[in-house]
Amino acid sequence: MTDALLLQVRNVAKKFKGAEAVGGVSFELGSGETLGLIGPNGSGKTTLVNLITGFVRPDRGEILFRGRLLNRRRPDQIARLGVVRTFQMARPYLGLKALENVVVPLFSSRLKRLPGGRYGGRETVALDLLEEVGFERESLVPFKPAGALPHGYLKRLELARCLALRPELLILDEIFSGLSLAEVAGLMPIITRFQAEGVALVMIEHRLRELFKVVDRVLVMNFGRVIAAGTPAQVMASPEVKEAYLGAE
Ligand code: ADP
Ligand code: MG
Repeated sequence: MTDALLLQVRNVAKKFKGAEAVGGVSFELGSGETLGLIGPNGSGKTTLVNLITGFVRPDRGEILFRGRLLNRRRPDQIARLGVVRTFQMARPYLGLKALENVVVPLFSSRLKRLPGGRYGGRETVALDLLEEVGFERESLVPFKPAGALPHGYLKRLELARCLALRPELLILDEIFSGLSLAEVAGLMPIITRFQAEGVALVMIEHRLRELFKVVDRVLVMNFGRVIAAGTPAQVMASPEVKEAYLGAE
């Protein structure tokens, strides 16, 4: 793990119809670091991810990745720089097979050379990626239309689509939500492998117990602002954080 600065978010804000969804958020992320992003529903977590990944344009503030300003770039351009995200609601091409959904990102110009492509075409590489996230290679599951996959596999498919792009910064928006404890446990080795490979992670999660096992630091949002930052123990000791969580119940 290095301390090289990867992401700088400076005073970023976004209003929707007059209501501030993100109200001036600043934080930094080092290369290979894992940051947890938590907060009650509606606190602006997904909007912050949308701002970083170009799906929403900031009203003010700056977002820099490796010193490059992301503010006016499109999502595909940002992904090509290495910033890749999953969606809270998985968004595969429902009519395409699971496998084909992973073949699509393998056409990205980010991949100057197909990793592992020496041993086969994109379909083989896509199968490898699906196997990495827990699809049984010898089964028919990779060949099912994405629309026919159970929820747990959709989450894995989201991960495989991201992995295909070899991200430097991977943002996971509630990747554990709706999964059983066993399914979450099954994803943990995948998360720790990203970390071992030096991929920086931002993880939005409501399942704090699981989240706190893998993060270096946590940022807590409420009403569009950062109300606490630090280690899991530090933020959970904050009276403002306790209040935000109790108030939301
Ligand atoms: P979280 O992910 O923390 O639950 P969101 O970022 O999804 O929170 O939402 C923050 C606030 O912004 C909410 O009040 C939500 O209704 C509003 N919001 C998010 N996206 C939009 C949008 N595209 N149009 C209007 N309001 C939005
Ligand atoms: Mg959200």
